[in-house]
Amino acid sequence: MALSFTHSRALQKRAESLIPGGVDSPVRAFRSVGGDPPFVERAQGAYLYDADGNRFLDYFGSWGPMILGHAHPAVVDAVQKAAANGTSFGASTAAEAELASLVVQAVPSIEMLRFVSSGTEAVMSAIRLARAFTGRKFILKFEGCYHGHSDALLVKAGSGVATLGIPGSAGVPEETVQFTLALPFNDLSAVEEAFRLHAGQIACIIIEPVVGNAGTILPAPGYLEALRAITEREGALLIFDEVMTGFRLSLGGAQEIFHIKPDLTTLGKIIGGGLPVGAFGGRREIMQMLAPLGPVYQAGTLSGNPLAMAAGIATVSHLIAERETVYAHLAETTRQIAVGVAREAKAAGVPLSVNWMGSMVTWFFTEKNVIDFDTASTSDMARFGKFHRAMLERGIWLPPSQYEAAFVSAAHGEAEVDYTISAARKVFSELL
Ligand SMILES: *Cc1c(COP(=O)(O)O)cnc(C)c1O
Repeated sequence: MALSFTHSRALQKRAESLIPGGVDSPVRAFRSVGGDPPFVERAQGAYLYDADGNRFLDYFGSWGPMILGHAHPAVVDAVQKAAANGTSFGASTAAEAELASLVVQAVPSIEMLRFVSSGTEAVMSAIRLARAFTGRKFILKFEGCYHGHSDALLVKAGSGVATLGIPGSAGVPEETVQFTLALPFNDLSAVEEAFRLHAGQIACIIIEPVVGNAGTILPAPGYLEALRAITEREGALLIFDEVMTGFRLSLGGAQEIFHIKPDLTTLGKIIGGGLPVGAFGGRREIMQMLAPLGPVYQAGTLSGNPLAMAAGIATVSHLIAERETVYAHLAETTRQIAVGVAREAKAAGVPLSVNWMGSMVTWFFTEKNVIDFDTASTSDMARFGKFHRAMLERGIWLPPSQYEAAFVSAAHGEAEVDYTISAARKVFSELL
């Protein structure tokens, strides 16, 4: 029986008359996969419930934050308690240093940090610091890596920009991006070449150490280690953008798994437990360049907001308390789903290439091994769109773009694994 989207369709229509595309973030609109975006009324655990009473198994977790699943009692309780005491003061609260201490404990390369309200802000601020610290202008990023929607970073930016097939963004003057170098991921010779061409002028390399915003892409063995060595040799900073991978791949993020100490790290998503939070942090001597201690200006009316801090503390302290079990459960559940779905594709003769790590997974509709943005782009996008729509019809809500990682939460268990694999089996037979 086909699901009904009548109410969602009406809500979308109303929203479209008031909000461009009816959405406050472009990929929510389902343009690249087709079909109707369901309007969510509530969520619990691994499931979303929409305006038509449909239930969906959630594989995008609010695009990253919901690692514990939706409406986790500890998080809800913490937010309710904080709200009763007032929602914002514009003055310091104990909760900020409390969450900061949890982050420092989990991510040893971070000696000091500052909270902001989004990943975009965290990255903008980290870049400003890197330029101030080095006295250099150029920044080096990688194709398919998304670092938020600030002007200088909207170059070959993956995520929604890639989904919509636009090269960057209108409204970004070329002068604004003249100091941004975008190189292929996993290609060290391109990095060496850039440092030769711009000797003494590159302030930093910024990277998603495990890419999520071009779909899931893993660093080749030795790649991140080499970037660490090159930046040290060249006097440039290494920034790990762990807005997605932080507290997801492990408590200490990708840097813990690969044993690399970046100079600066950006965080977001999970550390806000579903409320708007970002953070940037790293070496003390760099962080102390921030106002009011130093000459780098950075500020925010709602930075360190008490509700957001409460949700972050509840989420991160739960992850710390359960670290021995939660990350193993996430990795094993994800492995089963990743491999199980790929097996069904193979049995049905559908070319599929799967990348996963921790609780991030992407099925690319290509025979190629996906190692960078170009190989990710060999995916058959029409087929991905069909797959997405057919899975949605079966009550499984995957991220509506090939260039996005799917996320598994701690609330996903055996029943969800089995249901997902059996739905994929039926869907693949229809895709041929
Ligand atoms: C989501 C994301 C951002 C941007 O964070 P927002 O909170 O959406 O501004 C930056 N970097 C990475 C790696 C992300 O995944």
